[in-house]
Amino acid sequence: MDGNLQALNALLAVFSFVLGSLIGSFLNVCVYRLPRGLSVVKPRSKCPKCDNPIAWYDNIPVVSWLVLGAKCRQCGQPISWQYPLVEAITGVLFLLVFWRFGLVIATPIYMLLSAALVLVTFVDLTDWTIPDEVTLPGIPVGIATSVLFMLYPKSGLAVMGPFELPVFNSLLGAVVGGGVLYALDKGALLLLKKPGMGFGDVKLNAMLGAFFGLYGAILIIVIAAFIGSFVGILMILAGKRQPAPGGPSDEAGEEPADPPAPGHYLPFGPYLALAGIIVMLAGPAIIDYYFNTLLAPPSL
Ligand SMILES: [Zn+2]
Repeated sequence: MDGNLQALNALLAVFSFVLGSLIGSFLNVCVYRLPRGLSVVKPRSKCPKCDNPIAWYDNIPVVSWLVLGAKCRQCGQPISWQYPLVEAITGVLFLLVFWRFGLVIATPIYMLLSAALVLVTFVDLTDWTIPDEVTLPGIPVGIATSVLFMLYPKSGLAVMGPFELPVFNSLLGAVVGGGVLYALDKGALLLLKKPGMGFGDVKLNAMLGAFFGLYGAILIIVIAAFIGSFVGILMILAGKRQPAPGGPSDEAGEEPADPPAPGHYLPFGPYLALAGIIVMLAGPAIIDYYFNTLLAPPSL
């Protein structure tokens, strides 16, 4: 690669991380305000402890938290590590998307999707809900990307499924992706007499199915279940049970959320979101390996 191109790529990579961390800063606002039905635009960010507005120089992603020593400049109360964590994760995801796809149509679309999945994850972890504000518009946006994929096969987008037309794979992905989780939920209710997942997970996986097609939707459920079991085993080994019914911990330093409805839900959203990121970055390679290596007739 020639030197100028390398320098440009390095610059764009840094730009991707900075852009992601700035979006992450906005996601922190959304994580707090969306479940409370507050506007994510107004008013300006203020310290949840002392209500003083936060100056721009105290609101620089990750950096300000480190410079301030995790304390509010005005009142000295601790600022949760969740803020820089969300900013850093979003920055890294934007960087990964740029590194994986480069300068194609898929890059801004998958950056936005990554941001949506970070938001879903942290709202689910702190509030035990999955915001409809993300998943409901996400379904038609996912279907729209399949149309883009159809028009621009070299866009970097991947909508995987058995049909020639990507839009069919996308529609089938949304229906089957959501439908399987809905059936699992109803099955758990019938067999275990308690709800397995929330309807929010159904809508989230319908959205992911719309983005990645039928094969993507199924792959996401398999990967999410695998990661979920792995984390479950780790928690048992660490002597912790699944979060007790009674609400999430208030590690974010906010008021404890209301306890969830009787017969609590397992927060499955973060696993679906993580699986969605994996499929976004490596889905076509995994599907290709499955069909062409695992299912290929043995060569003699
Ligand atoms: Zn303060």
